[in-house]
Amino acid sequence: MAKGKINVSVENIFPLIKKFLYSDHEIFLRELISNATDATLKLKHLTSIGEAKIEYGNPMIEIKVDKDKKQIRITDQGIGMTEDEVKKYINEVAFSGAEEFLDKYKDAGKDAGIIGHFGLGFYSAFMVAEKVEIITKSFKDEPAVHWVCDGSPEFTLKEAKKKDRGTEIVLHVAEDSTEFLEDSKIRELLTKYNKFMPIPIKFGMKTETLPKPEDAKEDDPAPTQEVDDIINNPAPAWTKKPADLKDEDYKSFYRELYPMQFEEPLFHIHLNVDYPFNLTGILYFPKLTNDLNIQKDRIQLYQNQVFVTDNVEGIVPEFLTMLRGVIDSPDIPLNVSRSYLQADGAVKKISSYITKKVADKLSSLFKSNREDFEQKWNDIKVVIEYGMLSEEKFFEKADKFALYPTVDGKFFTFEELQNKIKDNQTDKDEKLVVLYASDKESQHSYIEAAKAKGYEVLLMDSPIISHLMQKLETSKENLSFARVDADHLDNLIKKEDTAISKLSDEEKEKLKGEIEGVIQEKGYTIQMEAMDSSASPFIITEPEFMRRMKE
Ligand code: ADP
Ligand code: MG
Repeated sequence: MAKGKINVSVENIFPLIKKFLYSDHEIFLRELISNATDATLKLKHLTSIGEAKIEYGNPMIEIKVDKDKKQIRITDQGIGMTEDEVKKYINEVAFSGAEEFLDKYKDAGKDAGIIGHFGLGFYSAFMVAEKVEIITKSFKDEPAVHWVCDGSPEFTLKEAKKKDRGTEIVLHVAEDSTEFLEDSKIRELLTKYNKFMPIPIKFGMKTETLPKPEDAKEDDPAPTQEVDDIINNPAPAWTKKPADLKDEDYKSFYRELYPMQFEEPLFHIHLNVDYPFNLTGILYFPKLTNDLNIQKDRIQLYQNQVFVTDNVEGIVPEFLTMLRGVIDSPDIPLNVSRSYLQADGAVKKISSYITKKVADKLSSLFKSNREDFEQKWNDIKVVIEYGMLSEEKFFEKADKFALYPTVDGKFFTFEELQNKIKDNQTDKDEKLVVLYASDKESQHSYIEAAKAKGYEVLLMDSPIISHLMQKLETSKENLSFARVDADHLDNLIKKEDTAISKLSDEEKEKLKGEIEGVIQEKGYTIQMEAMDSSASPFIITEPEFMRRMKE
């Protein structure tokens, strides 16, 4: 047996690790399972290129918890390590990683966001364990080894009897971490971090119900059998080719991601790029109306199928954080703060790629099935309008498919609207005047009056529409919006009206004078023309600017 001392400058690094990683102890399991996965994938690679002359088989990773002995075991059937490799990768490499981490982030201890995303690797085991053992046998023909370390820089290394290839990590759980000895806790962590990892992960057994045999009687219980409980789906939809997936596959993956979500998504966007950065994923447009889960079910960020976070702020443009789904990229730096993320070149490219893909998808949905797009408009408009306001690039694309519904249930793109009204709805300065109503009920008579004159009236009732109107007014030439009850109606160049009023012009003037006498507030205009073309006797309008001031 050999004793050794890990060569570090910080005498006892483990209390430091514990302290700095305090808020995120749970990531130890993710890190150890990631290592087990890496080791298995390496073996797969080596066998596929003929370097390892062994049967790859169907390896899995197993997690076992022994509450009485206070142990957690993580076993894999990967490449394993020789004695030299343990010395090199565990004593030197892993340790220098931990040391480097502390060097860099000692002072940033308070920013839990940074720390939680730093893959500290193997040594994160010491956040929950007072002693860690590695029993490992390499796929090479060399004896197995047994490494033990109690959290001080000293370790022991000796030969072991292990016969099967692979690595077993034994954690002797510390007194302050016994919560991790609960099956339910481990299951929770596995579901959170490892649900889509590429190698099957077994945690205990489960009972599976088999189909009843043909000759079974009606009240015979269905037969059951005990099978491995595999907690993950090693081949989630986003890792497959879009051509290999049907609409139903995307829907069932959505249910897998959000088991508590009963509403189906409206549509999906499959992301797949490998240059100049690597990114895969599937985004879903959910029905946002009346959705209480909007905060909870968010886009999840993965790195090579390992869950990292569901806070994608800074990586996905803000207006798209209302979407759901996953993005997976090894190119997103996780060990940095949010402000750094926003300035990072690769991350900026990722963000604009996602914006572009979403815009392209919306555009193709619009072109391929206009009717369907119109039906979905109410559910997707908030995201699109918000995007048009916040991202110029998105505005340019969305301007071609953003819809403006009328009070009569028609939908126009801006260009269509423009063509429709350009001859009829201009004012004295030749500005195009877009009339809209914000409330069909209360503005009913104004709407009717405008329609009677042959004007189109939009129904603009979404929460940020007033901002979008301003944006359109500034980005398009010669355009102004006016609510139907504003005085603009007066300024429009008049078409020939078909008069239905029985009053003469003089009589109207007289009536107008009387009404003015009754109205107390200033600034309102009384239009008697309404009675020429609609059932309303007259309408009272308020200047658009006054109304906006009150909002
Ligand atoms: P990283 O995974 O980023 O390389 P870690 O600290 O997690 O850093 O692990 C250090 C090294 O230890 C790994 O690169 C690998 O060579 C070795 N190692 C850790 N766990 C295993 C395992 N289960 N099987 C084989 N090798 C392992
Ligand atoms: Mg690792």
